[in-house]
Amino acid sequence: MSLIQLESVTKVYQTEEHAITAVKDLSLEIREASFVSFVGPSGSGKSTLLNLLGCLDQPTTGTVSISGTVVNRLNRIERAKFRGENIGFVFQNFNLLPVLTVFENVEYPLFMVQDVPKEERSKRVLALLDKVGMLDQKNKFPNQLSGGQKQRVAVARALVTSPKIVLADEPTANLDSASAFQVIKVLHKMRDEFGTTFIFATHDPRIVQEAEVIYTLEDGALKERQVTEKGQG
Ligand code: ADP
Ligand code: MG
Repeated sequence: MSLIQLESVTKVYQTEEHAITAVKDLSLEIREASFVSFVGPSGSGKSTLLNLLGCLDQPTTGTVSISGTVVNRLNRIERAKFRGENIGFVFQNFNLLPVLTVFENVEYPLFMVQDVPKEERSKRVLALLDKVGMLDQKNKFPNQLSGGQKQRVAVARALVTSPKIVLADEPTANLDSASAFQVIKVLHKMRDEFGTTFIFATHDPRIVQEAEVIYTLEDGALKERQVTEKGQG
């Protein structure tokens, strides 16, 4: 069954001078537990699309359904709640809070969206830090970590609420090869273990070659959908 359905999704940004169609009449379905990547040149609409999938933005026309809920029909508050319960985010710049420790950064979403008792919070945070190989760094602050370590903390933070979907916009763009490789390995492990769907926007061939389905965007429109060898199984 498909987890995500886009039907004729169009997003137009209206600026003072002109209208920009960032996503153009896009229809596609994404299955549960998939590892998919959106590729395409800068400005092709990848981030706009991820924002639509992440309920951070609304399509101008068309519908975005996730787990049978038409998310663009939800109001602002319902959308925020849906996002908190179903979607995790990983960003290019990690977006860790500098005044919180590694442990506290990962714990943070549990305060924001879910009412989880302290002991359970701690258990979940430590288990995830262990999985991303950052347990021994739990009391450090972000500025004491390398880029790859920061991104692995961000991955743990994205997964702590057990979301169905993790959206990652250029997650390896600021990482050296070895760190990027480690992060990708961790993401794969999470998918296999939790059945989380990972959706990337990236140029990084190291991610693209791991993807099961590759969507190529051009000027906001879907140019190609390619099921790779990894997606045949
Ligand atoms: P990508 O992530 O592939 O680089 P984006 O989704 O960021 O592409 O951008 C797609 C198009 O939409 C670009 O032409 C960009 O300039 C435009 N765009 C993105 N966000 C906005 C915005 N908030 N206001 C106006 N135009 C935007
Ligand atoms: Mg982008």
